[in-house]
Amino acid sequence: MGRRILFLGPPGAGKGTQAERLARALGVPHISTGVMLRDNVTRGTDLGKKAQAIMAAGDLVPDDLVVAMVKDRLAQDDAACGYLLDGFPRNVVQARALDEAIGTGALEMALLLEADEEELVGRLLQRALDEGREDDNETTIRNRLQVYRDETEPLVGYYPENDVSVVAVDGMGTIEEVFARMMTALVDN
Ligand code: AMP
Repeated sequence: MGRRILFLGPPGAGKGTQAERLARALGVPHISTGVMLRDNVTRGTDLGKKAQAIMAAGDLVPDDLVVAMVKDRLAQDDAACGYLLDGFPRNVVQARALDEAIGTGALEMALLLEADEEELVGRLLQRALDEGREDDNETTIRNRLQVYRDETEPLVGYYPENDVSVVAVDGMGTIEEVFARMMTALVDN
């Protein structure tokens, strides 16, 4: 069955970086809905055209579109032996759709990467300079943090109620320090 792990945490907490590393260490694919959506925008697909303005505003792309995209991805061969989900689910509707798709209890655990708000905003503004992401300006960043609190944070309660443990990992410090904490969390839980 392999390992099926999901990443929770606010934008800027370092989910993408850490998930990529962890996926490599575990030998499972890193499935990031943000990366997949940005790729659709770049390629100008129908999905990309629908998602572009929504993403630029920092809002959530409609659940049905994202759920269909993820289901397709999970049906690919390399996901048969586990995966690391990053950026999905983003709300309770998506979490229920995932449970339905893979079966309740199929997830091993959720890693919750935490960092304080000023650190998050600072990192996202830095990323705007480094990567030129359209959704990394201050107004959009504040909106994305608000969307996280309203829509995504309730999953921190949803999963334990559905027998998936949520393990919090301190996301402050260097990439190496955070990665070491995550490996410890995986071994201990
Ligand atoms: P991320 O790279 O995970 O921060 O995602 C960037 C943007 O893509 C988000 O601000 C949303 O607009 C969109 N997005 C990514 N994942 C999802 C999702 N699971 N549901 C809805 N929108 C998403």
